Amino acid sequence: MSKLKIAIQKSGRLSEKSLGLLKNCGIKFSNGSHKLKTEAKNFPIEALFLRDDDIPQYVEQGVADLGILGENEVWEKEKDVLILEKLGFANCKMSLAISKDEDYTGLSWFRNKKIATSYPKILKKFFDGKSIPVEVEEIGGSVEIAPGIGLATAIFDIVSTGSTLMMNGLKEVEVVMKSEAVLISSAKLDENKQILLNKLLFRIKTLKNAAENKYILLNAPNEAIPEICSVLPGMKSPTILPLALEGWSSLHSVVKEDEFWDVIDKLKSIGAQGILVTAIEKMVS
Ligand code: ATP
Ligand code: MG
Repeated sequence: MSKLKIAIQKSGRLSEKSLGLLKNCGIKFSNGSHKLKTEAKNFPIEALFLRDDDIPQYVEQGVADLGILGENEVWEKEKDVLILEKLGFANCKMSLAISKDEDYTGLSWFRNKKIATSYPKILKKFFDGKSIPVEVEEIGGSVEIAPGIGLATAIFDIVSTGSTLMMNGLKEVEVVMKSEAVLISSAKLDENKQILLNKLLFRIKTLKNAAENKYILLNAPNEAIPEICSVLPGMKSPTILPLALEGWSSLHSVVKEDEFWDVIDKLKSIGAQGILVTAIEKMVS
């Protein structure tokens, strides 16, 4: 029988959330990531635990069918793999930073400057696209110390809060790309594996839908219902149930997480009361 092989980071920022995602998809593994690989008990999939840098190569070669890793590594490695789905964790920026005392005048500031990075391909492509010549100094890690020790005048690296930059006397001046964890696949999966992949993708999308939406319940006078319905589209349309109190109803619907606060403000101004909002665990669309 056919079985999928998914490459996951062995130990690092992505490991726990990657396994957590599969677990929330109902996939159970016998034990943790201290082994090289482990087979799921209730889904034809095997997890391979690898360094994230190596995942694009293994997926391209078909050693693994799928992989979970940061988009930044996918772009840097330039392997023949497909990005199937953004996963909503390990969000970070890939930014250019310079000494905090420098007067930054725009991208042309970097002309002929030496920039230290662990992501030389992304960096080179970016400046080639802007027709600005720069000198790229590739280093393996601790990029933020490069200006301080005179290795380079600027750096290009992952930034999340910016505290590492600050500690090293640097400031972020340009965001080159944003990255988050993604699911990648080999460009050539056979038909049986594709069927299994579709099953897995359906589960991942169901979780993503749930995370992006909230379930909302509220009470309203009947005359306010038409206007409330226009604010609350729901999955098809809101559910409306009469309250024991004459002339009032209860409405149930779904709102998008990112529209949530705007919707609540509107509902209150239209006359909604007793608004309850709860998380959705799974949402099949
Ligand atoms: P490995 O040993 O597997 O090569 P690593 O040291 O390269 O691990 P991690 O530091 O665990 O990698 O980061 C993995 C990914 O997590 C990065 O490629 C990036 O996509 C994302 N990431 C890195 N740093 C941050 C951060 N500060 N905030 C959010 N996401 C981050
Ligand atoms: Mg790595």
